[in-house]
Parts: sequence; C-alpha cells; structure tokens
Amino acid sequence: MDFIPLNKWIPNLNHPLVIAGPCSAESPEQMLATAREIAKIPDVRIFRAGIWKPRTRPNCFEGVGAEGLKWLEDVKAETGLLTTTEVANAQHVELALKHNVDILWIGARTTVSPFAVQEIADALKGVNIPVMVKNPVNQDLPLWLGAIERFAGAGITKLAAIHRGFSTGDKSKYRNLPKWNIPIELKRRFPDLPMICDPSHIAGRRDLIAQICQKAMDVDMDGLMVETHINPDVALSDAAQQVTPEALSKIISSLSLRTEYAVDRSFEQELEHLRNLVDRADLDILEALKERTEIIKKIGLAKKENNIMPLQIHRMDELMKMRVERGVNLGLTEKFIRDIYHTIHTESVRIQGDIVNEIDTKK
Ligand code: PEP
Ligand code: MN
Repeated sequence: MDFIPLNKWIPNLNHPLVIAGPCSAESPEQMLATAREIAKIPDVRIFRAGIWKPRTRPNCFEGVGAEGLKWLEDVKAETGLLTTTEVANAQHVELALKHNVDILWIGARTTVSPFAVQEIADALKGVNIPVMVKNPVNQDLPLWLGAIERFAGAGITKLAAIHRGFSTGDKSKYRNLPKWNIPIELKRRFPDLPMICDPSHIAGRRDLIAQICQKAMDVDMDGLMVETHINPDVALSDAAQQVTPEALSKIISSLSLRTEYAVDRSFEQELEHLRNLVDRADLDILEALKERTEIIKKIGLAKKENNIMPLQIHRMDELMKMRVERGVNLGLTEKFIRDIYHTIHTESVRIQGDIVNEIDTKK
C-alpha cells in the first residue's frame, strides 16, 4: 500500500497536525464559539465534531444527526478550518459528502466490524476523500490494518491511522490503555502511513491529556486529535476529557518537539530521536516490571494462605522454557533471555520469601 504523507494533504504543514473540536456537535452556537477560539491556534488545521455518536448505552445523547453537518459547513466558511466527522455507515457517508465534509474518520467501534468498514469503503468508491481510521476497541493490529486495507482497496489514497487506546478491562488510570507498541509496530511496517494520537479517548480525563500528547510526539507520531469544547463541563458527551481552546493552546505550546519536523534529519537529530525511543522503551520495561512485581506479591500472599513454599522448581523450569522460546522467536538470544529471567525470577522468589516468611515470624 502507498500512503500520501500529511504534508501533501495539508498545505504548509511543518509541525504536528492538530485536529481539535468537540466530542459532539451540540448547537450552532457551541460549534462556532469553539471553532472561533480554536482557529486562533496556529497548529490546529482541522475542526472535528461528532454528528452521529456511538454511545455505549442507549438513551444517552446520540448526536444531533444530519442537522449538525450544516454547522460544520458554517465553521469551515467562517474559520477556514478543514472539517472532519465520524461516519459509521453508507448513509452517513452520503450525507457527509453532500455537506462537503473534508475528511472522514472511522470510529473505534466501527473498525472492529469488517462488514461496516466494507460498507463504508464501498460507499466511498470513486470519491477520493481522506479517511482516518481509529484503532479497533480491542488490541488487534490485524483488524486495524484490515480496515485500512479495505479503504486502500476502495481507492482511498489519503489514509491515516488514529491511536485512541484499547479497552482491556484492566483497572488503570486511563479510559483506554495506550499500548504504544501497537501503533509503533504499524508505523514500522508502513512508515509512510500518517499516525495521529487521540489523547482524549486514551485519557478519559483532561489532566492526562498533556502528557499523552508529549508521549505521542516522543514516539514520532504525526499529529494529535484533541477533544476541545468552549465549555467542557457542560458537554453532552465525554465532558471529563474535553479541554477548553485556551487549555489546548497551552498544551500545544508546551510540547517539546524533540524531532525535527523535516524530511531530512541530520545524524545528530536521528541519534537523539533514537535515544529518545530507547528512553521510552526502557520506561515501558520498568513499568512492566513494576506490574509483574505486584502480581508476584499477590501470588506470594496466596501461597502464604495455603502454606506453599515460595520456590517451586518445576514452575521455574516451565517459565524459563516458555520465555526462552518466545524470546528466541522474537529474535533475541537464548543467553540474554536466560540471564534476564534468572535475575527476575531470583527477585520474585526473594519477594515471595519475605511474604511467606512473615507467617513463620508470627507463629
Ligand atoms: C470520538 O472521537 O468522539 C469517538 C467516539 O471516539 P472513539 O471511536 O475513539 O471511541
Ligand atoms: Mn468523544
């Protein structure tokens, strides 16, 4: 698949592309008031607003429907911003095209459904409008890629992927876990595919937006889609995660763009960029070790309750065999995996030993 870089979609783009606007179109006043403020932020080039809203439960605000498309046209006429909205079926496509929406996006709940994606792709045959495809709700890279392929197959040449995090059921501070390795892998396979981060749906709360935007820049993403509302607290959907245009402006100006937004990077820039990626990979390793340690403690407590020894040789052998096999499959050397797991396992036995031995001291 060939992908057209963002700077060929959007003229004079020499910074990350910022897409901003409310989760949902609510009224003409809300749309225009938000857009007027957003248009003052130089990096914002595209105005977003959901017209048809996929809500988890019925009887929530499900979007204003086709009426909101006219408001998007008014935003474009007044501010000059490009416009984008979510389409989830062929009828949405027809209406969005009729109202001159510039860019379409596919929501996470649609990307999971190959039937829905194909219906939209078929509706777009012969219309080469840019399409941004959000990752599916679940951690499934082939499903994400499959949706992108369906649009490429329908003749869409301006395609982008949006990372909006994954629903995992695990308790975490995020609404949708940002499994960065998944978009990074997609980018590794298709370096020309523009990758945009949606920190709003990853975070679910506005205080995390800035750090997620920074992380997206650190892993070299091409743009950000940030839900922005003139009065977030009264928003009819996703109120907790929307920011004001003023807050958005601060977030954007505080970003440290470590990599140059230029096609040719100098050797130093490339080195700094790669070191930055290593720093991030190490942070992920440390966070994974912390998560592992917490689980080990839980196992220790269970062993304590059942009076089981902390060290069980057969489990150690089995674990080592599985990890070596997986590591070697991933292209790592057997010695490296054995050394690392020896250290990790020794530490786990020590932690569990401390927990289990507490029984003895109390006895
Ligand atoms: C949205 O962008 O408002 C939205 C519904 O997002 P997602 O499809 O990522 O849940
Ligand atoms: Mn939303």
